[in-house]
This record gives sequence, C-alpha cells and structure tokens, in this order.
Amino acid sequence: MVLSEAEDLKRYSFEIGAIRPPSEGGSYSLLIRATRNCPWSKCKFCYGTPYNREKFQMRPVEEIKEDIQSVKHIADGITVIAEKLGGMDWAGKVIDPLFLYEKDYGELNENESSNLQSLVNVYNWLYSGGRTVFLQDANSLIMRPSELIEVVRYLKETFPSIERVTSYARSKTLSKRSLEDLKAIRRSGLLRLHVGLESGDDDVLRYVNKGVTAEEQVLGGIKAKEAGFELSEYIMPGLGGKKMSEQHARNTASVLNEIDPDFVRSRPYTPNPLTPLFEEWTSGNFELLSPHGYLREIKMMVEDLKFNGRLCFDHAMNFWRGRDGRPLFRMDYSGYKFPEEKDEVLDLIEEGLKIEESRHVQRIEYLM
Ligand code: SF4
Repeated sequence: MVLSEAEDLKRYSFEIGAIRPPSEGGSYSLLIRATRNCPWSKCKFCYGTPYNREKFQMRPVEEIKEDIQSVKHIADGITVIAEKLGGMDWAGKVIDPLFLYEKDYGELNENESSNLQSLVNVYNWLYSGGRTVFLQDANSLIMRPSELIEVVRYLKETFPSIERVTSYARSKTLSKRSLEDLKAIRRSGLLRLHVGLESGDDDVLRYVNKGVTAEEQVLGGIKAKEAGFELSEYIMPGLGGKKMSEQHARNTASVLNEIDPDFVRSRPYTPNPLTPLFEEWTSGNFELLSPHGYLREIKMMVEDLKFNGRLCFDHAMNFWRGRDGRPLFRMDYSGYKFPEEKDEVLDLIEEGLKIEESRHVQRIEYLM
C-alpha cells in the first residue's frame, strides 16, 4: 500500500552531527548541520572530543540547502504515508530497518544508517509539530553573517511551521560580531543561542584554555541579548578544582549578573579520559571537588547571583541526591526562576550538604 513511498524515502539522507543540547532533543528539533566540528577544539576539559577531534569545516551554503531539500522530500513522503495509513503512529511503523531494509539495525551499512537516522529525525520532528530546528555543530555564528542568514531564511521558507531556530555559539565569536550583524541574524529567525561560558574567572578560563576572557564573555553575552537572542549560558561547577573554587564561583556569578541571560545551565565538570585535564587530574595536578565541594561552590555562586533568568540543572551530570534519594534539583529544562526561586535553590543546597557524601554518586568510576 505504501511500498513506493517507503522506497522513495530510502533515497534521501542529510548530514547529522554528533551532539545537540538536551533541551533541543527534548523538543525533537530537526538537526541541520551548518558547520562541521569545533573551530577551537582546545579547551582542556573537552578538547573537541564530542566531535572526535575531527577538523573544523565550513559547509558551502548550497550543500546545506541540499540537506534542507532532502528534509523536505522526507517530510513530504512521511506525510503522504501517514495520510494513507491513517496517522503518524502508523507511519512510524515504516521507519524501521526491518521494514525498509529487511535488516536489523546493527546490520545496516553506512548509507542505510545515515538514511535511517535522517528519517527518524524528521519523523520525530514532524510528530512533535515541526516547530524547532537546531543548527549543528559547535559554533554556527562563525559563518559569514550573510550566509547564516541565507540558511535560516531558506529553512523558514521551506518549512513555514518552524517557530524556533537555535544554535551553539562561542562568546569569542559573539564578541567580535557587530551588533548590526547579530540583529540581522536574529531577524532572519535564529532565536536562541547556547553558549559554553563555563567560567567567568580569567584564571580558570586561562587554565582550561577556553580561548576567551571574562570581558569577552560579558561583551558577547550582552551583545547577544541586545540583538534580541534568547540566551542560554552553560556553566561548569568544579572546573577550577579545589584551588580556584571560590574565585570560579564568585566571578562566574559576577559575569552572569552582567550578561543577565535567559537561562543558566549547570554542567558540573566530569573528567573525560580523552582530554588533557583528565591527565592532570590522574597525575595529581588537578584536585577534583568532593560532592559537597561542588555544592559549596554552587552555593557561593547562587548567593552572588542577581539575574532575572532561570537556573537549570537539566542534565544527569548534576548528580546530587536529596533526602528521598531522588535528584536534589529539578532536572527540567526551565529550572528555577531568579530571583523568585533563589531561596529554594539555596535550601536544596543545604539539604544536599546534610546528606552523607557517599550518597551523592558522581559517575567517574566508569571513566577510569
Ligand atoms: S569550544 Fe566547546 S566544543 Fe570546542 S573544545 Fe571548547 S568546549 Fe569543546
């Protein structure tokens, strides 16, 4: 009944990069790869490992548009199949390696795998309303502004249902872009930026080779806000180790207060074995905080925080447990509104500090 349409779906694939923020996966965003990998790849705690340390590449606009056209073909095909079969749930049965290729997932070759990944991404996106798109990889703002604008416009013209286009961005790049360019990018439809701030302390930033100063972080963040972007800043509690814990907390709060982002998202430092900071830790040159040490550091930061956005613990890396054994903090994407819920966060930290450290299990053992 839908064999020819299903056969047609097998003709289209588009590039999908390695990662996207959890808040984007949660809304089943369509993933469009605007650039490949990270243009910096030197941060000591990350080292571009999410992208396998592969070389950064710009993608020609025409190539990105071809990907968007492939998405269009897949979306149209799935829509026809859903109409014929009586709904999206039935269409979902078609997006299956056994149905499409008569193979188990593990038996698919590279092309078949890429095709299936593309179909699954578009199917989930359509199923959730086709409203959000995330531009991959690590810093789409590095594209020429006119090219980025062209891509975002093309996306919105091709899919009028799109309400939100979002991307990662580096503070350094934001600090260098003119406000006019940022405003033009925002007007084209790019709405939300995810920025890895990690720390607002210059010693910590230098130590981890973040390639940006606190001043540039502030400048980039303020410009992004002024241009009208919804801004998520990612912080990394514990990144200064024991030695720089207090200055990391205080100066991060101070930078965040100046930027006043919409969201601050906590991603506590967890050693990654493929990075230089992991080696410093295992050789005894970097002292990791204890579970209570992380909480005390977050407490110092929260005490100093005077912003009007939301503080979120929306990742399993926020490992602390509450009295009932459940995660100490709510892990939803909207987190705690400041200043209204600041006291609640401080109370939760006190609760966590009363719980024996061994009950807060940070999953490091499996990395060693
Ligand atoms: S800029 Fe981001 S992706 Fe690149 S190395 Fe640093 S933390 Fe990793």
